[in-house]
Amino acid sequence: MIVVHSPASSRHDPDTYFRRGRTVAHPEQATRYPILRDAAAAAGHRLVEAADAGPEPILAVHDAGLVELLSGIWARRDELPEIGEEILTGHFARPQMSRRPEGLLGRLGYYMADTSTPVRAGTWEAVHGSAQAAVGAADAALASGHAYALCRPPGHHAYADSTGGFCFLNNTAIAAERLRAATGGRVAVLDIDVHHGNGTQGIFYRRADVLTVSVHADPSNYFPFYTGYADETGDGEGSGANRNIPLPQGSGDAAWLAAISEGLSTVAEFGPSALVVALGFDASEHDPIGAFKVTTEGFARAARLIAAAHPLTVLVQEGGYLCEALPQNLVAFLGAFEASR
Ligand SMILES: [Zn+2]
Repeated sequence: MIVVHSPASSRHDPDTYFRRGRTVAHPEQATRYPILRDAAAAAGHRLVEAADAGPEPILAVHDAGLVELLSGIWARRDELPEIGEEILTGHFARPQMSRRPEGLLGRLGYYMADTSTPVRAGTWEAVHGSAQAAVGAADAALASGHAYALCRPPGHHAYADSTGGFCFLNNTAIAAERLRAATGGRVAVLDIDVHHGNGTQGIFYRRADVLTVSVHADPSNYFPFYTGYADETGDGEGSGANRNIPLPQGSGDAAWLAAISEGLSTVAEFGPSALVVALGFDASEHDPIGAFKVTTEGFARAARLIAAAHPLTVLVQEGGYLCEALPQNLVAFLGAFEASR
């Protein structure tokens, strides 16, 4: 497997996170990157550093105002008196109060959904490198059939104009758009992270040329709460091009794999020219913030199902948090995927 990654991924290392009324260690830690990278290398996969394809692939998906803010925010930090090592706001625009202010604090809340995406000195470099890994993996897959983008920070909760849920830029959407443009056809996204791929859904919700399918924990009492329900099927030209398969918390291999099979049936009916898999490992039974009980063998079985689905497939790393099983699940997935191609 070609593993496209960016050393800049280490440069965003958020400190704390506000969760359930308490300040805790941020789950999306920079060490996720070397742990996943080194595990893939030790398993014999080929590491390739992402080239810089410039801003175009990012701007093909994202609002220019969000990209401008993220890339320039650290240079504006003096606008916030007594700022520490992280820039963050506690104020967020709502549909009924949504003017875009000039000041940095207000502008942050205009482009952010929550407090999980603080900006530090190296955040933009990490976010940009992560997006470029997605672009590089899409290009590698176009040449060789499949590739894995080791994206960190993750991306599937980022909308065209909003960060959130540890995500800044939507790497999965960037890869999908890259493949759509290159193939001239339609692209499908299958998201198997334990959380609904709300940003990816939002980006493509009104489009007929990108199918989005997500298998995730029921959002009625789980992040991202406000989207991810089965009756969200797309809108306008995109009607019928979105499918959500929510499962009860505590679901294990059998239910999860059955839902993935169902999702792959929808992908097959759509007849895409490429498949992008939003590959979270937080469905793991050992994940510190997950809600499912998927085993390492379950991830290998998912990989076999997915490997048989499409000759042009890009795997994009999403969630999956620090625990012993994290690198084991990656190695199991990549190995089983390759063995089934
Ligand atoms: Zn997740």
